[in-house]
Amino acid sequence: MNGPDRDDRSERDDRGETDGGHDHELRVTKIRDGTVIDHVPGGLALTVLGVLGIDGSAGEVVSVGMNVPSDRLDRKDVLKIENRELTRDELDVLSLIAPAATINIVREYNVAGKHRVERPEQVSGVLSCPNPDCITAGNEPVVPTFDVLEEGVRCVYCGTILGAEGADLSEHADIG
Ligand SMILES: [Zn+2]
Repeated sequence: MNGPDRDDRSERDDRGETDGGHDHELRVTKIRDGTVIDHVPGGLALTVLGVLGIDGSAGEVVSVGMNVPSDRLDRKDVLKIENRELTRDELDVLSLIAPAATINIVREYNVAGKHRVERPEQVSGVLSCPNPDCITAGNEPVVPTFDVLEEGVRCVYCGTILGAEGADLSEHADIG
């Protein structure tokens, strides 16, 4: 052996600081720019991706942690979407599926904004009504609008209810 192994130390010195693992909420992979959606109910990550229209076909870089042990939720999913910040509409729909979700906007590896989703009383123009006889399904210039219920949402025009489990919501999400 030729003296102490300095690899670890010199690497740390080069960076000028250590990242002592204090933020274990974000420990999976650090992303440079994008959005981290934390505290999604365990098992719903793919539903969230479906709602956001992310299926990988556009080359998005997405990391998903599923059923990660969580203090606040029993188990949670964590999504990291690179180079994308969510729009108001996307946050509205996300709030229907994952009311406890935390949104972290990341810029240059730093959390530039952190907020909870807010459950609106109504959502407009982000979901389509599955009822073929609904006025919103015709040629009328009517924006599909739903009242947000305790569980799921209800079309204000025909009363059709979309379920709370996420499946229905993601099938009928119609964002941007
Ligand atoms: Zn309707």
